[in-house]
Amino acid sequence: MGSLQDKVAIVTGAASGIGRSLAHAMVREGAKVIIADLQEQGGHETQRMIEDRYPGSSVFIKADASRFQDHEFLVKEAEQRFGALHIAVNNAGIAGPMAPTGDYPLEAWEHVVAVNLSGVFYAMRAQIPAMLRAGKGSIVNISSILGRVGFSNAPAYAAAKHGVVGLTETAALEYSSQGLRINVVGPAFIRTPMIAEALTEEALQGIVGLHPIGRLGEPEEVAELVVWLSSDKASFVTGSYYAVDGGYLAR
Ligand code: NAD
Repeated sequence: MGSLQDKVAIVTGAASGIGRSLAHAMVREGAKVIIADLQEQGGHETQRMIEDRYPGSSVFIKADASRFQDHEFLVKEAEQRFGALHIAVNNAGIAGPMAPTGDYPLEAWEHVVAVNLSGVFYAMRAQIPAMLRAGKGSIVNISSILGRVGFSNAPAYAAAKHGVVGLTETAALEYSSQGLRINVVGPAFIRTPMIAEALTEEALQGIVGLHPIGRLGEPEEVAELVVWLSSDKASFVTGSYYAVDGGYLAR
């Protein structure tokens, strides 16, 4: 029996990268997964890849993480299709452009904060009441190493990811005594389309040196931590920030 047997999960940003790996890993562990993303093609692709091996275990729903109504819809679908909501991984995110704070484009600030920070608040605002109805639940929010330290030319991203840590800790204080565990995961640089788009291969080679382990991470390495945090094996873990960063923050 898998560690998430018969659980129902929502994974946002599951059309690509870390979210896609996560959706796979959760289904492998026995969960039913709602694959949520704005990107339809990638979302359907994730679902097809999963359904080939685990028929009937997932559904793709197009949803914009920066809209509260879309999160409400995802929660309703989880309850109607699968009976309840037990797990949510709020993973959808964008990198935004790179520019120093004094030049950072105002619209980009609004957009990055809307998806990466407000999106996580809207998600939890919709998910928490459903998990209270279920009597138990686990939320894992995906922040970053940049939720702990700064990074030149990424003011909006770093600010939003720091905000996700504070939001997670606050919600954990509020709901841990009511059966909900709420944690935050901070990956370092992981090989996904996000960093391939944001950084040149040359810049990435320079960034490898910031990771004491000597390489970038893989999406599956983030997924394994999130699966564990989402499972009953992590029954005493709440309000915590977990790094999966090849030693980046230990420098
Ligand atoms: P990715 O670009 O491969 O995947 C992100 C997914 O989020 C995409 O499928 C995209 O369509 C979706 N998305 C973006 N905006 C959305 C919106 N408004 N509504 C719904 N879906 C939306 O990137 P990834 O690297 O897999 O990133 C996943 C998460 O991990 C993000 O929150 C990111 O900030 C975080 N993270 C990534 C890294 C890294 O190095 N890759 C490091 C630390 C944290």
